[in-house]
Amino acid sequence: MKRTPLKRVPLKRKPRKLGRFRKPLRQTSKKTARRKRSTTPFRIAFLKSLAGCEYCGRQTPANELAPHEIAGGPDRPKALDKAFAMLGLCQLNCHDIVQQESKARQLARLYLSRPQDLDVVAFNRLRGKADGAITLEEVLAEAELIQECAP
Ligand SMILES: [Zn+2]
Repeated sequence: MKRTPLKRVPLKRKPRKLGRFRKPLRQTSKKTARRKRSTTPFRIAFLKSLAGCEYCGRQTPANELAPHEIAGGPDRPKALDKAFAMLGLCQLNCHDIVQQESKARQLARLYLSRPQDLDVVAFNRLRGKADGAITLEEVLAEAELIQECAP
């Protein structure tokens, strides 16, 4: 097969300087940083409003609790200031444990701690799911299981 020989064309841009002149990539985007800053007051107030950890029930002080977004991954930015999608948990152990649980079970923990904040439809919508993706019945059934297992 006959090929046209490759020809070197001059670069349109200046060659990039390497090494110490390169600026490192920012760790969080400007958008994420702004979102984080604007939701921080809500998150602090949320933790202070709790009597303690919403998993183990201990009266953990607010500064040792961490807000946990039940809707994680790509939905997390939208969930940073939604009480219906958040749990306050001991930073050390409880956070890791609850993260592994199903969404329905996490919503059941929210319900047992703050029944007035449970909003299954709003939670489904926040995640871009159908209104019945997780049902109230599922959450209440999980809440019953949690209570049966409680010592
Ligand atoms: Zn705890």
